Amino acid sequence: MRTKIVAGNWKMNNDLDASKKLVKKVAKKVKGKKLKNTRVIVAPTFVSLERVSKKASGTPVEVAAQNMHFEKSGAFTGEISADMLKSVGVEIVILGHSERREYFGETDALLAKKVDTALANKMEVIFCFGEVLEDRKSDKHFDVVESQIKNGLFHLEAKAWKNIVLAYEPVWAIGTGETASPEQAQEMHAFIRKIVADKYSAELADDVTILYGGSCKPGNAKEIFSKKDVDGGLIGGAALNADDFEAIIDAI
Ligand code: PEP
Repeated sequence: MRTKIVAGNWKMNNDLDASKKLVKKVAKKVKGKKLKNTRVIVAPTFVSLERVSKKASGTPVEVAAQNMHFEKSGAFTGEISADMLKSVGVEIVILGHSERREYFGETDALLAKKVDTALANKMEVIFCFGEVLEDRKSDKHFDVVESQIKNGLFHLEAKAWKNIVLAYEPVWAIGTGETASPEQAQEMHAFIRKIVADKYSAELADDVTILYGGSCKPGNAKEIFSKKDVDGGLIGGAALNADDFEAIIDAI
């Protein structure tokens, strides 16, 4: 059975104090739940990772980084390596978020290198991709998503996929209040599973967790998560409020 995941991407929000408070609240809420086959992950900023990771340890909440450099160390001002993340207890990293692609020029080729580094360090990758509005309007969304997945991940051997989680995030739905309809999400998730099956195998495709992200909220999560190829969500804005995040976890 595929693992389900609700992951909160806190982006550039919450200082150390606010991050500690939020993870504490989330952990308290999650502790009381009988989560079957479901993981809960939060991704704070780099400066809060160590403390949040300490607070989360011993609770069901896991902690991810929002980004990582592909080199081991060296003259890369402002960057963070896999070793550094692991040294503070973080073994999950979000890569390819549309904000990294758009504002920081991260390309498919760069992301493929980051994926390789993360996997070489035995980290798990939440790999994000998704089309912009013009792509969808011009009916290019399937091609765009296919090429992002192909260029970022299809060089991997099948066995590496046990550490890959996919996150389909239509860029037009991120932080906009616009959500893909449950049918649009299902259609794309089924397409993603098919291209992974064609490249690798039906078994591998059936096992891979595919998250939806883009203005997922307590009010729409249940319907989106009810679709058979949607295995949870990558949540931005709504993950900053413990009650909303809890409601989204409950929706799964
Ligand atoms: C995200 O940035 O991953 C995201 C899904 O954001 P939001 O939920 O705010 O649209």
